[in-house]
Amino acid sequence: MSTALKPPIAFVSRHDSAAWLLALGKVLPGECVLDEIEVSAEEALAVEIALVADPDPARLARFPNLRWVQSVWAGVERLVPLVAERNVPLVRLVDPTLANTMAEAVLAWTLYLHRDMPLYAQQQRQRVWLPHAYAPAGELTVCILGLGELGRAAATRLAAAGYRVTGWSHSVKTLAGVTCLTGESGLREAITNARIVVLLLPLTAQTHHLINAERLGWMRNGADLINFARGGVVDTEALVVALDEERLGHAVLDVFDEEPLPAESPLWNHQRVTVLPHISAPTDRESAAQIVASNIRQFRASGMIPTLVDTARGY
Ligand code: NAP
Repeated sequence: MSTALKPPIAFVSRHDSAAWLLALGKVLPGECVLDEIEVSAEEALAVEIALVADPDPARLARFPNLRWVQSVWAGVERLVPLVAERNVPLVRLVDPTLANTMAEAVLAWTLYLHRDMPLYAQQQRQRVWLPHAYAPAGELTVCILGLGELGRAAATRLAAAGYRVTGWSHSVKTLAGVTCLTGESGLREAITNARIVVLLLPLTAQTHHLINAERLGWMRNGADLINFARGGVVDTEALVVALDEERLGHAVLDVFDEEPLPAESPLWNHQRVTVLPHISAPTDRESAAQIVASNIRQFRASGMIPTLVDTARGY
């Protein structure tokens, strides 16, 4: 099909689209990918594919004849209700480069907690010379809640680094070097036995506040939490109580109910919290563009829409 015969593809985002349009232009030479604001009202009727990154719903609504929506982000919790309402298929970004970046982050912050870096940083500020007992990686259990694209890569990386790894997911999984659990009893077992609990679950109605006061109470005394999923998976008030009461050791938080984290949040100055500005796994624009391009080429050639988000389950 020549470019002239192909309807334009709209890129819809609240953020600056220029870099995305450049990256997509390079890998989709036969396509016309336009910033949504440049699509005329007449052209909008012909648009079949929207590429989205945190889109304004009203801007997406300009395209009444969409065949599918491709997110260039991995998390889709805000998109799900938007597309479900219109019954338009939603495809999310599944990128091995992103999984690798997340696995690296999980290993890095696991080592940060395992090797007591928050404690030694605090001791240095107080000019305290005090070595603490060392436990080898093989004596530490790290549990990963969520064994999807990112959770599986992270679990495999931790197992290769010598940690004892437990994973928890909705459906039963088999993963070399990882004890895989499911269900409420599996969740309890995973949380209870872990020195570090890592969250890599999507935010859905089922996972909202999954880590609440009761489940924080299952964590071992002094255990640590890493949240690289979404802020809403944790009940922040309950987390602050558990940290204040020194039942939990430390929390590494990359995601929050509100981002950027408001200046008045008690998390900023909490001695037992490390605040990160949503950086554990940034999308790699070049590799994401390649994946999106391959999805589009497949659709043009066969009409096949790539693997979909299940809007009923929310991920
Ligand atoms: P994914 O492939 O969809 O995997 C989700 C995993 O969570 C699956 O193993 C799924 O179980 C499990 N799960 C979902 N709901 C569950 C429930 N109610 N009970 C038990 N298990 C449940 O997602 P992903 O690509 O790994 O990404 C995970 C999340 O990471 C994203 O949704 C996003 O929010 C977050 N993220 C954060 C960053 C960052 O920079 N901080 C970057 C990218 C993504 P099944 O396998 O059985 O379905």
